[in-house]
Amino acid sequence: METGAGSQGKPRCSLCPEPAVFSDRRTGRHLCRTHFLAGIEQRVAGTIVSRNLIRPGDTVAVGLSGGKDSTALLMLLASLHPAWENVRLVAVTIDEGISGYREETIQSANRLAAALGVEHRHVTFPALFGAPLDAILTGRESQACTICGILRKRALAGAAREAGATKLATGHNLDDEAQSVLMNVLRGDLPRLVRDSSADSSGRFVPRIKPLMDVSEKEIAAYLLLRESWTDLPECPYARYALRREVRSMLSGLEYQYPGTMLNLMESKGKIEKTCAGALATDPLRSCRECGDPCSGELCQFCQLKRELGRELSGSGS
Ligand code: SF4
Repeated sequence: METGAGSQGKPRCSLCPEPAVFSDRRTGRHLCRTHFLAGIEQRVAGTIVSRNLIRPGDTVAVGLSGGKDSTALLMLLASLHPAWENVRLVAVTIDEGISGYREETIQSANRLAAALGVEHRHVTFPALFGAPLDAILTGRESQACTICGILRKRALAGAAREAGATKLATGHNLDDEAQSVLMNVLRGDLPRLVRDSSADSSGRFVPRIKPLMDVSEKEIAAYLLLRESWTDLPECPYARYALRREVRSMLSGLEYQYPGTMLNLMESKGKIEKTCAGALATDPLRSCRECGDPCSGELCQFCQLKRELGRELSGSGS
């Protein structure tokens, strides 16, 4: 990370005489602490306004894992919150039951929500699905992230509904979004590439929003360091099984060598959406035959998974 103390020989801020603490390799701009932090807040506020993510009267459930992205997300939303008219924030933490990993991140989430004075709700996999993720995954470790993703999505959606939320905010950043674009291309899943999780005219699910989608992982790390909120946390033991990990490493390398690669990828996605969205359109939303949740086929992903796992998964998860 190109942060520095701004001492002699170090670059000055491009906007004021203060020493720079962050350098953007894509634009060549150097920023001091004040301008860097203000710039991130303005960008997130800009994303929210230009994409109409949060409106007056909204209750925003914020998925708070306690990791760096969701920590930065809650800090940024809490700092922008006073300017919004009649908007309620509720942090939601899902404890999947991953031994040696989740305990620390949950403690971190608890400390943050308490420090910011944000209402905080907790949901656990054993309470929802009858077992912790560790037990559900026994013998299926290679599918860890797919199974965890489906269950966590279900848990978050249920918790958001319970909290009376009208939006569900997640900490996905620019790197995550660029990785997803590439992964969808690698899997040949072009309809998913153009699917918009925040667009819901049916009112049957709480729309998901990603206020950090224009902020890079490197900027999030710098934001947390400069706000003295960086904590070294363990990595999920199942992360090594994920395709995303390889895509992440490849994209980070490309971004370092060719600054702007991730933004270019997002621009390409935008162009594909504009020119091909009609041709790639998926079937209209249907109701899952078993649980009634919105889905594109006969069964939603959760009910399909429940069938595959048989008795090991109990509960409706909602
Ligand atoms: Fe779940 Fe995979 Fe993330 Fe671990 S790395 S929390 S298994 S999605």
